[in-house]
Amino acid sequence: MIVSREAFRDLVREAVELLPTELRREVKNVDLVIEDRPTQEDLEVAGLEPGHTLLGLYHGVPLPFRGHESYNLVLPDKISIYQEPIESVCRNRDEIVEQVRITVLHELAHYFGIDDDRLHELGMG
Ligand SMILES: [Zn+2]
Repeated sequence: MIVSREAFRDLVREAVELLPTELRREVKNVDLVIEDRPTQEDLEVAGLEPGHTLLGLYHGVPLPFRGHESYNLVLPDKISIYQEPIESVCRNRDEIVEQVRITVLHELAHYFGIDDDRLHELGMG
């Protein structure tokens, strides 16, 4: 299922609007960007197991792991949402809506220091 970039952007925006207020406030500190697909470097950073599709990626230092003085020196946090891989695993618009929502939540959870194992347990892996 393929949608226009504009429609996809709206879905990401809606996913953010569905977040609880406290989480939404934190999203403002993160650069949330839509990209066509991950780069080779992104795939390496993510360290995906074979057969898995990378739908999104959190780039940055999770909140609990930051030192106070040094963090100002690094790039701002960024969450990438990859449109083409999401489209490729969804058969209809409803599935895209759901997948975008899960991906935004999943990557935001990494920002809060929750790892993939824990997210898997929560059904958000
Ligand atoms: Zn993850």
